[in-house]
Amino acid sequence: MPLCYVDPDGRDIRIAIKGNTATIHANIIFGGRDVSGNVVNAYAQEIARNWGTDRNGNPWTYEHNGQTYNVAFDINFRLEKPNERRIFNGENNYVEVIDTNSPSEMRNYNYGTWRKNGEGVAAHEFGHIMGLMDRYAEGGDLPGWESNTMGVNYGEKHVDQRNIDGVLDKAFDAMDQRDAMLQQRFPISNSPYFQKPPTDFEYYINRYNSENK
Ligand SMILES: [Zn+2]
Repeated sequence: MPLCYVDPDGRDIRIAIKGNTATIHANIIFGGRDVSGNVVNAYAQEIARNWGTDRNGNPWTYEHNGQTYNVAFDINFRLEKPNERRIFNGENNYVEVIDTNSPSEMRNYNYGTWRKNGEGVAAHEFGHIMGLMDRYAEGGDLPGWESNTMGVNYGEKHVDQRNIDGVLDKAFDAMDQRDAMLQQRFPISNSPYFQKPPTDFEYYINRYNSENK
């Protein structure tokens, strides 16, 4: 089944750029009829396996303005508590787990439905949580995306540098704009911002600034 039918589209993550490290923060909270600790563990393991490092086991990096940044993930997985109030704070994503093969509907941008079983479902949907778009159409994977996690999820797929760049590009662009604004506001050469703009920066990805927007 094409994954477009099970998209959660929970595009809510926080990117924190500090020094030469960019950390992607998200909470994924699982509920629904067929959820269990084992299911959540399986999702978490698949996401870690696919997104934790590149295919050679090396940590991800990101190039920006001639500087290399380390890329880290801080993703928390947990079960939803009974009657828990859902708080959409820019970092929380709520997923309903259903043991079915029938199509699910998209509800909004940080709440969705994942199939209980299905190889690659969690890795692909986690890409959507980070704002990445599908890379397939009616006929299958888009050219060049045949083995990518954001293509149709049949068989073994992989995350590659394009996916990491797709998550981080807008955050770093926004940081550049912030730095340019600060330099304009404090143009004096002895200003702390003149020589070296501060690098601490936070950016949220949501439905309005995801990859395809
Ligand atoms: Zn999808």
